[in-house]
Amino acid sequence: MANFASVNRQSMSGHADLLGLLTVGPEWYWEQDCELKFTLVEGQGFAQTGLAPEMVLGRRCWELPGAMPLLNWEDHQSCLEKRQPFAGFIYRIRNTDGAQHFIRASGQPMFDERGVFSGYCGMASDVTEEMLHRRREQRLSALVSVFADWSWEQDQEFRIVAVDGRMEERCGIKPEFFVGKCHWELGVTNLLPEEWARHHALLEGRQPFHELELNIHTGNGDSRWVAISGQPVFAEDGGFAGYRGIGKEISERKQNEERIRYLATHDPLTSLPNRALFSEFLNRAIQSARRYDRRFAVVFIDLDRFKTINDSLGHEAGDTLLKTISLRLRECLRTSDVVARLGGDEFVVLLHEVEQVEDAAAAANKMLSAVIRPIMLLGQECRVTASLGIALFSGVEDEQALMKNADIAMYRAKEEGKNNFQFYSEDIKSQSLERMILENSLRRAVEFRQFFLHYQAQVDLKTGHIRGVEALIRWEHPELGVVPPMQFIPLAEETGLIIPIGRWVLNEACTQNVRWRKQGVPPILMAVNLSGRQFADDSLIDDIHHALAHSGMDPNLLVLELTESMVIHNFDHTNRVLLALKNLGVKIAIDDFGTGYSSLAQLKHFPIDTLKVDRSFIRDLPINAEDRAITRAIIDMGKSLSLTVVAEGVETDEQKEFLEQNFCDEIQGFHFSKPISPEDFVILCSKEGLMQKSLPD
Ligand code: C2E
Ligand code: MG
Ligand code: MG
Repeated sequence: MANFASVNRQSMSGHADLLGLLTVGPEWYWEQDCELKFTLVEGQGFAQTGLAPEMVLGRRCWELPGAMPLLNWEDHQSCLEKRQPFAGFIYRIRNTDGAQHFIRASGQPMFDERGVFSGYCGMASDVTEEMLHRRREQRLSALVSVFADWSWEQDQEFRIVAVDGRMEERCGIKPEFFVGKCHWELGVTNLLPEEWARHHALLEGRQPFHELELNIHTGNGDSRWVAISGQPVFAEDGGFAGYRGIGKEISERKQNEERIRYLATHDPLTSLPNRALFSEFLNRAIQSARRYDRRFAVVFIDLDRFKTINDSLGHEAGDTLLKTISLRLRECLRTSDVVARLGGDEFVVLLHEVEQVEDAAAAANKMLSAVIRPIMLLGQECRVTASLGIALFSGVEDEQALMKNADIAMYRAKEEGKNNFQFYSEDIKSQSLERMILENSLRRAVEFRQFFLHYQAQVDLKTGHIRGVEALIRWEHPELGVVPPMQFIPLAEETGLIIPIGRWVLNEACTQNVRWRKQGVPPILMAVNLSGRQFADDSLIDDIHHALAHSGMDPNLLVLELTESMVIHNFDHTNRVLLALKNLGVKIAIDDFGTGYSSLAQLKHFPIDTLKVDRSFIRDLPINAEDRAITRAIIDMGKSLSLTVVAEGVETDEQKEFLEQNFCDEIQGFHFSKPISPEDFVILCSKEGLMQKSLPD
C-alpha cells in the first residue's frame, strides 16, 4: 500500500497493467472525486461485498447502504479534511440482502498539476470474516476473563508465543516473562520431577490438562501461585499446532488452602504440628532413612506433674505452661527436628540424623534442662519435670512400632523416678520378662517364707541410748541372693502382694520385739514400714490388732512408718485409720519427710508422733547451706508440734554434731549401726551395756 503514496490519478491511469495486477486479489481499487464521491471501483474483491458498482458510484462512503463507521470515525474525518492519507479505516455497510459487510480501506489524496485537491484513491478489502472472528475472539476473551485472568498460546515446541489478558495486573508478572519460554522454564518450585514427567506425558499425548498449579518465582525473591489449563490446537490439516489455554492467579486461594491445612495439622494452643502431621514427618523420615541408610530417633515426652498444676492453678495456667514448654522444646533443638504435641501434656520429637545413642542422649538432656527451668504462673514460680522415652530407628521399624517403643521407654522413665530419659531397647523387653519372672518368684517367696527382717537402731541423741529399731525387710532369693526392698517392694505394691508380705512383716516384727524382751533386751520401740496399698486396705486394723494380740507385744512400742503422700491424699480415710490406730495404742511416724509435697500445716491435723527427716537432706550436712536450713526448719517445726524428730541416714560425726546442736531427738544410720540381724542386735545391745536379766518364757 505504501507504494501508492506517490501515485496520482494521471500516473495510475497510465499504468493499467499495474492496476490490473492490484485488483486480482481480494482487494479492489477505488477513486473518489474532490467531493469524496466514488468515481471508480475496480477489482474482483469488490464482488464480495454483495453490492453492485452502481450502488457505490456517486456516493460518499458514509452514504452507502447501511453505512456505519467503526471506531476511529473522528480521526478519519479530520484526516479527510486535512487531505491526509489514511490507512486501516473500517466501516460497515449492508448489502442488498441486508447482510452486513465490513470494509477496510486505505486512501491517498490526489492533486492535479496545479496542486489542487482532486480526490482520493486507494485500496479496500472486505474484512467481514476477520471482523467476525475478532468479535468471537473478543467474546471468548470476555468469557476467559470470567474464568481466568489471561489466555496463552504455545507453539508445537510448547513455547509460549502469546499471552493476553490481565496477567500483569493480577500477578505483577509481565507477559514478556512468559513469552518464549515453556511452562517448566518459569522458575517453578512446587512440582517434583515426576510431576513434570506426568505433565509432559499429557502434552505428548496431546491431551488437555486442567488446573496445573505452579509456584512461579518472578526473580526478585517474589513468588506467585498460578493455575493453568490448556487444550491442544490442531491445524486444518489435522497437524498438531501447539496448545492454547488460560491461566489465573491463585495466590489467595493457595493461602486459604494453606490456612485450612495448617489448622488441620497443627495444635491450636501451641501451634506445634499435631499427631497427623507428625505421622507424615515420621513416615517421610522412615522412607529416607531406609533409602540412605540413616538413623533418627523418636522421643516421647510426658510432663510429670502437669495434672497437679492444672488442677491447682487452673486451666489457663496449664495452657501457659504447655505453651512455654513447647517453645522451650523448639528452641533447644535444631530447626530440622520436629516437635509435635500429641495432646494433653504429651509431646513427641523427631530427632534427625542421630548416628549414635550419645546424640539422642545429648538432645534428651537438653530437653530435660529446658523443661525444668522455673516458670512463672499466676505470680508463682513453678517447676515441672518431664519423663522422656527414646526409640532409635534401626532400619526395620515402622511408624507404629517406633511410637509404641518410645511410649514404653517413656513409661520406664516414669518408673525410674521421672525427670529422666530412657532408651527403648530389647533390654526393656527382656526386663519386662525379668519382671514377670520376678513377680512369679515373689509370689512363691510369700508361700515359701523367703523373707527375713533386719533391724536398724534409732539412738537418742541426748542419752546416747538405743530407743528403738526399724524393721527392714530382706528377700533371700534362691538364685539371686539377698534382694534389697527397693527392688521388689514397688512390684509387690503393684501386684498387691504387699498385703500378705506386709502382714508377715508386722507379725514377725512384733514377735521379734517380744523375743528380745525375753532375751533381756529392754523395752524398745519397733518401727514397721507400711506401704500405701496396706494403708488403704480395709484389713489393716485387724492385721495390726492380730499381730499385737498374737505376739503379746505392748502396743505402745509399735511405730508405724507412713509416707507423706499416703496420708495427705484422702483426708477422711487417713483420719479414720489413724484414729483407729491410736485407739490400739500404736504410734505413727512420717517417713522420708520433706520429699513429698505436704507441709506440716497439712500434717498437724493428724495424730502423728514422729517425723523422720529424709536421708537426702542429711547426706550433705553440714556443708550444704540449703540442707542445713531445711533440716533446721523441719526440726523446729516438728518440735513446735511436740513431735519426736528422727534424722535418717546419719553416717558421719559432722552430721551427728550438727543434729545435736540443732536439738534433733534421734538419729538412725550407718554411723551407729547398719541394719542387722536380730542376733547381731542382741550382741549390739550387750556391747552397749543395755541387756537386762532375760525374762522367763
Ligand atoms: P526407709 O523406711 O526410709 O528405710 C531406711 C533405708 O535407709 C533402709 O534401706 C536403710 O538400709 C537405709 N539406711 C539407713 N541408714 C543409712 C545410712 O546411714 N546411709 C544410707 N545410705 N542408707 C541408710 P533399705 O533397707 O534398703 O530399705 C529401703 C526402703 O524400703 C525403706 O526406706 C522402706 O521405704 C522400704 N521398706 C523396707 N522394709 C519394708 C517393709 O517391711 N515394708 C515396706 N512397705 N517397705 C519397706
Ligand atoms: Mg522407714
Ligand atoms: Mg526413710
